[in-house]
Amino acid sequence: MSGLKRLLRSVFLVDLAKGLLLTLRYTPKPAFTFQYPAERRPVAPRFRGVLRLQVDPETGAQTCIVCDQCAKACPDDLIALGGHREPGQKIKILDYFDFNLSRCSFCGLCSEVCPTKPIKALIMSEDYELGSYSRATQILRVDEMYDGLPIEPYSR
Ligand code: SF4
Ligand code: SF4
Repeated sequence: MSGLKRLLRSVFLVDLAKGLLLTLRYTPKPAFTFQYPAERRPVAPRFRGVLRLQVDPETGAQTCIVCDQCAKACPDDLIALGGHREPGQKIKILDYFDFNLSRCSFCGLCSEVCPTKPIKALIMSEDYELGSYSRATQILRVDEMYDGLPIEPYSR
C-alpha cells in the first residue's frame, strides 16, 4: 500500500468504519457463546474424551475380558490392568485397571483394539473436565474408570 493511500485510510478512519460495520452485521445474530461452566457445549459425535470402561447396561456385568490388548496398543504404556479367573468361569474378573490420564494423547488406539462385542468394554467417552492440581489424581483406578460416573465440575 502506498504512503498516500495509507494516510487517506487513517484520515478517513476507513479501518475503524470497517470494524464497526462488521460488528453491526453480527449484532442482530444470536450469540454463539456458552456460559461455561453453567452451560456446556455439546460435544461432536466422534469426540474423544477420557477413556471409560463400560458394563453391560442391562445386567451391569463386566464386559472387559482382561485380554490386555488395550495396554499393549498404547504407544505410551499408560494402561496397566490385570485380573484373575474364578474356578469354573470362562471370563476373567478385572482386578485393577490403572490409567495415566496425565500423559494420554487421546489417540484412541486402545479403544479401537478393544475386541468385545456388542458392547465395547473400553471407549473414548464424552467426559473432558478432569483437570486437577495433583498428579496423583491423574492416575485413574478401576473404580474411577466406569462410564457415567459423575464428574465434579471445575470451581475456584
Ligand atoms: S488414547 Fe492413546 S495415548 Fe491414551 S491411553 Fe489410549 S492408546 Fe494410550
Ligand atoms: S482391550 Fe478391552 S477387553 Fe481387552 S483388556 Fe482392554 S478394555 Fe478389557
